[in-house]
Amino acid sequence: MSLIVQKYGGSSVADAESIRRVAKRIIDTKRAGNDVVVTVSAMGDTTDELIDLAHEITPIPDPREFDMLVTTGERISMALLAMAIKSMGYDARSYTGSQAGMLTTSNHGDARIVDVTPGRIRTALDEGAIAIVAGFQGVSPDTKDITTLGRGGSDTTAVALAAALGADKCEIYTDVDGVFTADPRIVPKARKIDALSSEETLELAASGAKVLHIRAVEYARRQGVTLVVRSSFTNDPGTIVYHPDRAEEFPVEEATIAGVAHDLSQAKITVVGVPDVPGSAAAIFGLVAEQGANIDMIVQNVQTQNDGVTDISFTLPKAYADAVTRAIEGAHERLGYEQLRLDDQIGKVSLVGAGMRSNIGVSSTLFEALRDAGINIDMISTSEIRISIVTRADLVPDAARAIHAAFGLDGESEAVVYAGTGR
Ligand code: ASP
Ligand code: MG
Repeated sequence: MSLIVQKYGGSSVADAESIRRVAKRIIDTKRAGNDVVVTVSAMGDTTDELIDLAHEITPIPDPREFDMLVTTGERISMALLAMAIKSMGYDARSYTGSQAGMLTTSNHGDARIVDVTPGRIRTALDEGAIAIVAGFQGVSPDTKDITTLGRGGSDTTAVALAAALGADKCEIYTDVDGVFTADPRIVPKARKIDALSSEETLELAASGAKVLHIRAVEYARRQGVTLVVRSSFTNDPGTIVYHPDRAEEFPVEEATIAGVAHDLSQAKITVVGVPDVPGSAAAIFGLVAEQGANIDMIVQNVQTQNDGVTDISFTLPKAYADAVTRAIEGAHERLGYEQLRLDDQIGKVSLVGAGMRSNIGVSSTLFEALRDAGINIDMISTSEIRISIVTRADLVPDAARAIHAAFGLDGESEAVVYAGTGR
């Protein structure tokens, strides 16, 4: 008998009819002879609606009460799903994150899992029931308060349960058929990928691909959990995300390139004319870190025409751009730079593939493709298995399509998009 953890995203349980449809899928898995643990997200846009409601009460809601509020979304869907399964003649029991043993730090809104003690889930399974666990939430053993794992955190709940229970696989059900070679909404010839290593999936997610929550992929990689990303609306087998150590089992996709990701959520800050002395970068990025901003690309280049000064550019989430700009402006005198520029009309396109390590000419192919499409590059950064470029935001779709085609990733036909959000 196998143990399967299934996670259903908000779009898969958006209304009563969808919940009944999902209940049938779960029962099918159970009838095939598996033990089944299910994690659910809140129905449709419930989480957004709850957040809006909180902000109607007060602009800065109390973090403890905020988590108490938003975790109710998942409690609604878990109870309805358990009812649906029971009405179809199978035993099901719903559990909050706290009841399921999801122990987290006390950091409201962005708690980390510290331990999973799924005793009640085990008992439910031993008694033949299907266990349904509310996603995205846990409890802090220190404060005894309810916490949330951050937006999209239900994927992480599912992976953490799969790891703690030693599940054979963790299926993430969403409204797209799996992980694609690019976002089909901007690259119509994107193809679904059958199998992908977790390191490539992680790079794709970190580069802006939205199908999986990045922390969930990280967790799965650390714990050796095999993920399957698939649609709850079709019978497509989806995309298998496997641990790199198990690559021999998945020889199908030994492609050089996994896919192209894009990201329109970043802004660029350039500090012009920074004194070229030890400590300049430390002072600037110290201020950035104080604002809690996560930096992505950093480029420093000594000005050739001006002795003794350098320009430093970096990208960061748009949401932090104003705060960081203000912090650097506030330290203008101490930092001694000439000028500060903020540009929020940028976009990033990344090419990801484990095969880049052993293939030469990948970057020249990419730059030629952009040249032929008439796209100017603002910044470039690379990792072992990724090349990212920053360009104007409105050129991102063209850039993604050009790169996708240049690496032979285009499919024969256009990808089917079921108005999916990838959630
Ligand atoms: N409902 C939560 C959110 O929308 C968690 C999740 O969907 O994974 O962020
Ligand atoms: Mg959601």
